[in-house]
Amino acid sequence: MNLPRRKFDTLIIGAGGGGLRAALQLSQADARVAVVSKVFPTRSHTVAAQGGVNAALANVLPDNWHWHMFDTVKGSDYLGDQDAIEYMCRAAPQAVYELEHFGVPFSRQQDGRIYQRRFGGQSRDFGGEQAARTCAAADRTGHAILHTLYQQNLRAKTHFFDEFFAIDLVRDREGYILGAFVMEIATGEVMIIEAKTTLIATGGVGQLFRTNTNALINTGDGMAMALRAGIPLQDMEFVQFHPTGIAGKGMLISEGARGEGGFLVNCEGERFMERYAPQAKDLASRDVVSRAIATEIRGGRGCGPGKDHVLLRLDHLDSDMIRKRLPAIRDMVLTFLHLDLCDTPAPVAPTVHYTMGGIPTNRFGQVVVPENQGPEETMPGLYAAGECACVSVHGGNRLGGNSLLDILVFGRAAANHIIGYLAENRYHRPMSDEEAEKSMARLARWDKRGEGESIDGLRTELGNVMEDYCGVFRTEEILKEGISRVEELVRRMDDATLKDHSRIFNTARVEAMELENLMDVALATVISAYSRKESRGAHSRMDYPDRDDLHWLRHSLYFREDRSIDYKPVRTKPLSVDAFPPKARTY
Ligand SMILES: Cc1cc2nc3c(=O)[nH]c(=O)nc-3n(C[C@H](O)[C@H](O)[C@H](O)COP(=O)(O)OP(=O)(O)OC[C@H]3O[C@@H](n4cnc5c(N)ncnc54)[C@H](O)[C@@H]3O)c2cc1C
Repeated sequence: MNLPRRKFDTLIIGAGGGGLRAALQLSQADARVAVVSKVFPTRSHTVAAQGGVNAALANVLPDNWHWHMFDTVKGSDYLGDQDAIEYMCRAAPQAVYELEHFGVPFSRQQDGRIYQRRFGGQSRDFGGEQAARTCAAADRTGHAILHTLYQQNLRAKTHFFDEFFAIDLVRDREGYILGAFVMEIATGEVMIIEAKTTLIATGGVGQLFRTNTNALINTGDGMAMALRAGIPLQDMEFVQFHPTGIAGKGMLISEGARGEGGFLVNCEGERFMERYAPQAKDLASRDVVSRAIATEIRGGRGCGPGKDHVLLRLDHLDSDMIRKRLPAIRDMVLTFLHLDLCDTPAPVAPTVHYTMGGIPTNRFGQVVVPENQGPEETMPGLYAAGECACVSVHGGNRLGGNSLLDILVFGRAAANHIIGYLAENRYHRPMSDEEAEKSMARLARWDKRGEGESIDGLRTELGNVMEDYCGVFRTEEILKEGISRVEELVRRMDDATLKDHSRIFNTARVEAMELENLMDVALATVISAYSRKESRGAHSRMDYPDRDDLHWLRHSLYFREDRSIDYKPVRTKPLSVDAFPPKARTY
């Protein structure tokens, strides 16, 4: 079969903030760029980001990038790579000013400068008083950023393939990635996009868990494509639980709500965070607050008939301030819970929110792989940026406001590296028909109909298993059971078919392939969690309650082929300043 082919300098898979920031940089440099997205670009999950983006602008309180760097290293529980963290924190003010000039309508102070709110894990002077570092456009920051970047890309003539599903990377015998095999969702037509460079920017994998704050499309497709191409996934055991998802439903109430003065109480009305984090209280790091809530609930001090949540109070704050700074959150709580945050507390519980792990990269966005157990090598022409990547600036726990920053800084950095690569590699590498057609099999499998296992049913079961066996608190026994349950689901996936209706919609085929991706990433997550025998950041092992820097200050790498785990050192050396050595982490 002769597949239709299109040729570009760069293929970007994903039109969230990471993909669009990279695309803009490339299009402005006159590269021919194709952006493929399975949803219309402005529906990417970046649009849902509420709270804001971190940069040490010092508009509200004194600040500098070095303090931001300290907070990020500490927040990561010392697992973050300090060269990448320094690079990101130094680049942050420029990233925000660029957005301002692109047209992002940031909230302002009286004096006209960009407003900055207080967020968790932020400090002045290396662990001192609370800082205010998060630049916000009310509580719709991601919306403002994504729409602005999309419009700038239209102006720069980026080529969009909207509602195209990327099925797999195309790889030649020598291991070079030559582009991807994609399907137009509306028509089912397939084609190959050939590219000299490919950037994976497919976002996170929150849909692995039953309750999460993510969009339905966050199914880890890019991570799974990387796994199938022989690339390991790094630090997948680190899954962020956001302390304040709406209980039982999962929608997010931004940390901005606590940043503006909100706080948590248990069934006794006690402001319990004072016990867990005497200094930072409700604005301690997310892993710390989520564990505190889970501990209150386990200790019988949860609220409601099921005692399964705590309450977030904002009713003591000025209601005009809430309407101005948190309008979308107030609306959302009104719509879904029929409660007005101005006078009634909201039920909240820890909810899966963010994937710290992902495709291993360096600070230029290049994908790095271990070479025969030897030193790391970059994969020429292959890049990853955003939540699907692990660069690693978030280590064991991401700070709020640092992900929007990550996608902007590393989207741009990857694009700049690609521009250099394209200058030296002017021709496409040849792609044989055989290589192009390999990924057809993946799609063809879903032409099969029958009364086998249902995709919906398996997806629900997977979410339940991950939540029950890979949650906030973990033990060897629970994780072992988790692995065997996920393995069982993977086996049952072999018998899955699309239902035997008169016609099969392409969306059903997409959902089936998304589930295959979720299964691969689920295995990576539970097996990595089982293997790390310490507690660090968001990975909390009740059987190994302490952090163990001697044995475990290292990144994990999961390989799909034999479901094995390997480890590599943390890059503890920053670029220009002294390293921050591991210390006990208190807030
Ligand atoms: C509710 C919520 C609130 C948040 N608030 C904040 C915040 O205030 N501050 C902060 O710093 N961070 C926040 N985050 C985190 C942050 O928004 C995300 O980590 C970040 O936006 C991810 O951007 P991205 O570009 O990597 O991916 P995304 O924005 O998730 O985009 C992924 C893209 O990949 C495409 N894609 C995926 N798979 C395929 C495929 N197979 N084929 C084709 N296209 C594909 C999708 O269509 C989409 O365009 C929040 C996250 C959530 C869920």
